[in-house]
Amino acid sequence: MFEDLRDLYQEVIFDHNRNPRNFRIIEAADRTVEGFNPLCGDRLTLYLKLAQDTIVDASFQGSGCAISTASVSLMTEIIKDKTIHEAEELFTTFHALLTNKETDLRMEALGKLAVLSGVRDYPARVKCATLAWHTLDAAIKNETHAISTE
Ligand code: ZN
Repeated sequence: MFEDLRDLYQEVIFDHNRNPRNFRIIEAADRTVEGFNPLCGDRLTLYLKLAQDTIVDASFQGSGCAISTASVSLMTEIIKDKTIHEAEELFTTFHALLTNKETDLRMEALGKLAVLSGVRDYPARVKCATLAWHTLDAAIKNETHAISTE
Protein backbone atom coordinates (compact mmCIF):
# COMPACT_ATOMS: atom_id res chain seq x y z
CA MET A 1 0.00 0.00 0.00
CA PHE A 2 2.68 2.45 1.06
CA GLU A 3 4.85 1.45 -1.89
CA ASP A 4 1.94 1.96 -4.30
CA LEU A 5 1.33 5.42 -2.91
CA ARG A 6 5.00 6.23 -3.26
CA ASP A 7 4.98 5.11 -6.91
CA LEU A 8 1.95 7.26 -7.58
CA TYR A 9 3.59 10.27 -5.94
CA GLN A 10 6.75 9.75 -7.99
CA GLU A 11 4.72 9.48 -11.16
CA VAL A 12 3.00 12.82 -10.47
CA ILE A 13 6.38 14.46 -9.80
CA PHE A 14 7.86 13.03 -13.03
CA ASP A 15 4.80 14.15 -14.98
CA HIS A 16 4.97 17.74 -13.71
CA ASN A 17 8.72 17.84 -14.28
CA ARG A 18 8.38 16.61 -17.87
CA ASN A 19 5.34 18.74 -18.69
CA PRO A 20 5.35 21.71 -16.32
CA ARG A 21 1.96 23.41 -16.07
CA ASN A 22 1.68 27.18 -16.54
CA PHE A 23 5.25 27.41 -17.88
CA ARG A 24 4.81 30.80 -19.53
CA ILE A 25 5.09 34.53 -18.92
CA ILE A 26 2.04 36.56 -17.89
CA GLU A 27 2.60 39.79 -19.81
CA ALA A 28 0.42 41.98 -17.61
CA ALA A 29 1.34 40.30 -14.31
CA ASP A 30 0.50 42.22 -11.14
CA ARG A 31 3.38 40.56 -9.30
CA THR A 32 6.69 39.23 -10.63
CA VAL A 33 9.26 37.84 -8.21
CA GLU A 34 12.41 35.81 -8.77
CA GLY A 35 13.37 32.98 -6.47
CA PHE A 36 16.72 31.22 -6.16
CA ASN A 37 17.84 28.18 -4.19
CA PRO A 38 21.66 28.33 -4.19
CA LEU A 39 21.88 24.97 -2.43
CA CYS A 40 20.70 23.21 -5.58
CA GLY A 41 20.81 25.92 -8.27
CA ASP A 42 17.02 26.10 -8.75
CA ARG A 43 15.89 29.39 -10.29
CA LEU A 44 12.39 30.56 -11.07
CA THR A 45 10.39 33.66 -11.85
CA LEU A 46 6.84 33.63 -10.57
CA TYR A 47 4.06 35.68 -12.22
CA LEU A 48 0.73 36.42 -10.55
CA LYS A 49 -2.37 38.05 -11.91
CA LEU A 50 -4.68 39.33 -9.18
CA ALA A 51 -8.27 40.52 -9.04
CA GLN A 52 -8.65 42.19 -5.67
CA ASP A 53 -7.42 39.49 -3.29
CA THR A 54 -7.94 36.52 -5.62
CA ILE A 55 -5.15 34.92 -7.64
CA VAL A 56 -6.77 34.64 -11.08
CA ASP A 57 -3.66 33.42 -12.89
CA ALA A 58 -0.22 32.12 -11.92
CA SER A 59 2.69 31.07 -14.09
CA PHE A 60 6.45 30.63 -13.97
CA GLN A 61 9.67 30.48 -15.94
CA GLY A 62 13.04 29.14 -14.93
CA SER A 63 14.96 25.95 -14.50
CA GLY A 64 15.70 23.67 -11.62
CA CYS A 65 15.72 20.09 -10.42
CA ALA A 66 12.73 17.77 -10.78
CA ILE A 67 11.48 18.50 -7.26
CA SER A 68 11.56 22.29 -7.65
CA THR A 69 9.97 22.18 -11.11
CA ALA A 70 7.22 19.78 -10.02
CA SER A 71 6.61 21.87 -6.91
CA VAL A 72 6.19 25.19 -8.73
CA SER A 73 4.11 23.54 -11.48
CA LEU A 74 1.75 22.04 -8.89
CA MET A 75 1.65 25.30 -6.98
CA THR A 76 0.61 27.39 -9.99
CA GLU A 77 -2.27 24.95 -10.58
CA ILE A 78 -3.39 24.86 -6.98
CA ILE A 79 -3.30 28.56 -6.11
CA LYS A 80 -5.34 29.61 -9.15
CA ASP A 81 -8.73 30.99 -8.06
CA LYS A 82 -7.65 30.92 -4.41
CA THR A 83 -7.58 34.05 -2.32
CA ILE A 84 -4.24 35.35 -1.09
CA HIS A 85 -5.27 34.31 2.40
CA GLU A 86 -6.05 30.73 1.28
CA ALA A 87 -2.72 30.55 -0.57
CA GLU A 88 -0.84 31.70 2.54
CA GLU A 89 -2.64 29.08 4.61
CA LEU A 90 -1.64 26.37 2.13
CA PHE A 91 1.97 27.54 2.34
CA THR A 92 1.89 27.30 6.14
CA THR A 93 0.44 23.78 6.02
CA PHE A 94 2.80 22.64 3.28
CA HIS A 95 5.85 24.08 5.04
CA ALA A 96 4.82 22.39 8.30
CA LEU A 97 4.38 19.07 6.50
CA LEU A 98 7.91 19.23 5.10
CA THR A 99 9.66 20.47 8.22
CA ASN A 100 7.67 18.81 10.99
CA LYS A 101 6.89 15.11 10.93
CA GLU A 102 3.70 15.38 12.96
CA THR A 103 1.36 17.04 10.50
CA ASP A 104 0.06 13.94 8.68
CA LEU A 105 -3.42 14.76 9.95
CA ARG A 106 -3.62 17.73 7.63
CA MET A 107 -2.61 15.83 4.48
CA GLU A 108 -6.12 16.07 3.03
CA ALA A 109 -5.96 19.87 3.25
CA LEU A 110 -3.03 19.75 0.84
CA GLY A 111 -4.70 17.78 -1.94
CA LYS A 112 -2.23 17.14 -4.75
CA LEU A 113 0.59 18.80 -2.82
CA ALA A 114 0.76 15.63 -0.72
CA VAL A 115 2.77 14.06 -3.55
CA LEU A 116 5.74 16.09 -2.30
CA SER A 117 5.46 14.79 1.27
CA GLY A 118 8.25 12.25 0.66
CA VAL A 119 10.69 15.15 0.39
CA ARG A 120 10.71 15.60 4.17
CA ASP A 121 12.83 12.45 4.43
CA TYR A 122 15.53 14.32 2.50
CA PRO A 123 16.20 17.56 4.39
CA ALA A 124 18.56 18.82 1.67
CA ARG A 125 15.68 18.76 -0.82
CA VAL A 126 13.13 20.58 1.32
CA LYS A 127 14.29 23.93 -0.06
CA CYS A 128 13.79 22.65 -3.61
CA ALA A 129 10.15 21.93 -2.75
CA THR A 130 9.52 25.15 -0.81
CA LEU A 131 11.33 27.60 -3.16
CA ALA A 132 8.14 28.21 -5.18
CA TRP A 133 6.20 28.89 -1.99
CA HIS A 134 8.77 31.27 -0.50
CA THR A 135 8.67 33.12 -3.82
CA LEU A 136 4.86 33.20 -3.69
CA ASP A 137 5.01 34.52 -0.13
CA ALA A 138 7.28 37.37 -1.30
CA ALA A 139 4.95 38.08 -4.23
CA ILE A 140 1.92 38.22 -1.94
CA LYS A 141 3.76 40.61 0.38
CA ASN A 142 4.54 42.65 -2.75
CA GLU A 143 8.31 42.37 -2.37
CA THR A 144 10.01 42.98 -5.68
CA HIS A 145 13.58 41.97 -4.92
CA ALA A 146 14.73 38.44 -5.75
CA ILE A 147 14.41 35.99 -2.89
CA SER A 148 16.92 33.35 -1.89
CA THR A 149 16.35 30.30 0.30
CA GLU A 150 19.75 30.89 1.94
ZN1 ZN B 1 16.52 21.53 -6.36
